[in-house]
Amino acid sequence: MAGTANSSDICVRTETLKVIGESEFLMPVKVTIDDKECTGCGICYNDECPDVFMEGDDGNSNIKQMYQKGGKFVGEVPDSLKNCVKNAEGACAASAIKVE
Ligand code: SF4
Repeated sequence: MAGTANSSDICVRTETLKVIGESEFLMPVKVTIDDKECTGCGICYNDECPDVFMEGDDGNSNIKQMYQKGGKFVGEVPDSLKNCVKNAEGACAASAIKVE
């Protein structure tokens, strides 16, 4: 009947909201490093986000292997590390880090 609700209606709506929340949480964040612009200053891998970035063989920044997606300069990180990579993006004076 229109305009009435019972406990099963409320339960169905709660489940729908929960599924949407979980899918947003699992959205990966894409991170790229422009190796031509990177100066190897170390701010990203030493200070801002060592969980994701590391020093490569040439001293420039690399994405840690566990987060690489198609090479050491391209990666995907979980949403829980979004602030970490965004901080590195903002702190990189060479504008070599891009977060999408
Ligand atoms: S902060 Fe920028 S310039 Fe410095 S190492 Fe990281 S990517 Fe390279």
